[in-house]
Amino acid sequence: MSTTAAVLEPGATIGVLGGGQLGRMLALAAARLGFKCHIFSPDPDSPAFDVVHRTTCADYTDTQALDRFAENVDVVTYEFENVPAETAVFLAARLPVLPDPKVLATTQDRLAEKSFIAGLDIGTAPFAAVGAPAELAAALDRVGRPAVLKTRRFGYDGKGQATIANGTDPEAAWREVGGQPCILEAFVPFAREVSVIAARGADGTVECFDVTENEHRDHILKVSRVPAAVTDAAALQARRIAETIADKFGYVGVLAVELFVLREGGLLVNEIAPRVHNSGHWTLDGASVSQFEQHVRAVAGWPLGKPIRHGRVEMVNLIGSEVEDYRAWLSVPGAAVHLYGKAAARPGRKMGHVTRVFAE
Ligand code: AMP
Repeated sequence: MSTTAAVLEPGATIGVLGGGQLGRMLALAAARLGFKCHIFSPDPDSPAFDVVHRTTCADYTDTQALDRFAENVDVVTYEFENVPAETAVFLAARLPVLPDPKVLATTQDRLAEKSFIAGLDIGTAPFAAVGAPAELAAALDRVGRPAVLKTRRFGYDGKGQATIANGTDPEAAWREVGGQPCILEAFVPFAREVSVIAARGADGTVECFDVTENEHRDHILKVSRVPAAVTDAAALQARRIAETIADKFGYVGVLAVELFVLREGGLLVNEIAPRVHNSGHWTLDGASVSQFEQHVRAVAGWPLGKPIRHGRVEMVNLIGSEVEDYRAWLSVPGAAVHLYGKAAARPGRKMGHVTRVFAE
C-alpha cells in the first residue's frame, strides 16, 4: 500500500473521492495553487462537479471506474468519511491515498474511534458497546443516565442517535436508531462545543487553526465563532489533543476534532472527522491560509502555511430555505457569501455559508 505521496508540481491532478461542497471548496483551493482536481462521486448532482473538468460519476465499488480514475490522477484524497474503506484500500494499492485508509476504518466506527482516543489517554464521555438489546441494561449501568445511544456507523448531524433519559425505555431507543450495533455514551452536560482544525504535512509538521466555538441547531452546525470563549490553557490543551491524534495516525491532510468543554473547564473529545470540516469554513475568509489550501498542500507534499487569523470571525450556515436570504446577505457590509450550487433546498441541507470578519 502506498500512502506516501511524492511532492507534486503545479499542473498535477488531485483525485477527490466525494463530490459535496467540501470537494467543491477543495477543488477551488487546489486550482488557486495550479493543481487540477478529478472528482469521483456516485451522485450526478455533485456540487463539486460544477467547478472541475475531470469527473467520474460511478459507484465507489465500480473497480473499472476506480482503475481509470487511478490512472488519471497523481494522488487521491477524500472529502467524505463514509467512502467505503475498501475503495480507499483498492486505490492505495495503485497510488498514494492520503490520509491513509486505515484512518477511515477507525473513524467510520464510533466504537473504534472512541477506543482509539481513550487509548491515547485523551478524555471521552464514558462509553460502552451495545451489540444487541440484551446488552442495554449492563451498558446503562456502566455509563449511567441520561445517556446517548448512537449507531456505530453512518451517523452524522445527529442522525442515528437517541437520548435515554430517566424515564426512557432503552429498547425504544434501540428501535429508534434502527436496531443496529451501537455505542452508548454518557450524556455530557457541556458548557460549550468547540473544534480544532489541524493540518499535518507529509513531513510531520502540524499547524492548528485557532479553536472554534460551535453552536448547533437541531444537531446541525449553525454558527461557528473564533476565537472560542475558552481559557488559553483550554485552547492549548485542545490543540495538543488534535496534534496527538494527528501524530498517532501518521496523518497527512486536514482533520477536525470536536470537543465538549465541561462546566468545570475540562475537555472531552466527541468525535474526529478525517477531512476538512464545516467548522473550518471561516478560514476561507478569516485566515491567511484556509483549511482547504492546507489540505491541498499536505496531500501535494508541500509545506503547510502558518495560519494567521484576520480578526474575530463568525461563520453562519445557510441551511435549507435559509439560502433564500442570500440576497440580503450580499448587502451586509463585510459579509462573504458562499453558495454551494445545490438545486434543491431540502430541510436540513447545507446550501451555503456566510463569513464575517470583525476587528478584535
Ligand atoms: P455527533 O454526531 O456525535 O457529533 O453528535 C451531534 C451533536 O449531538 C453534538 O454536536 C452534541 O451537540 C450532541 N451530542 C452528541 N453526543 C453527546 C453526548 N455524549 N452528550 C451530550 N451531547 C451530545
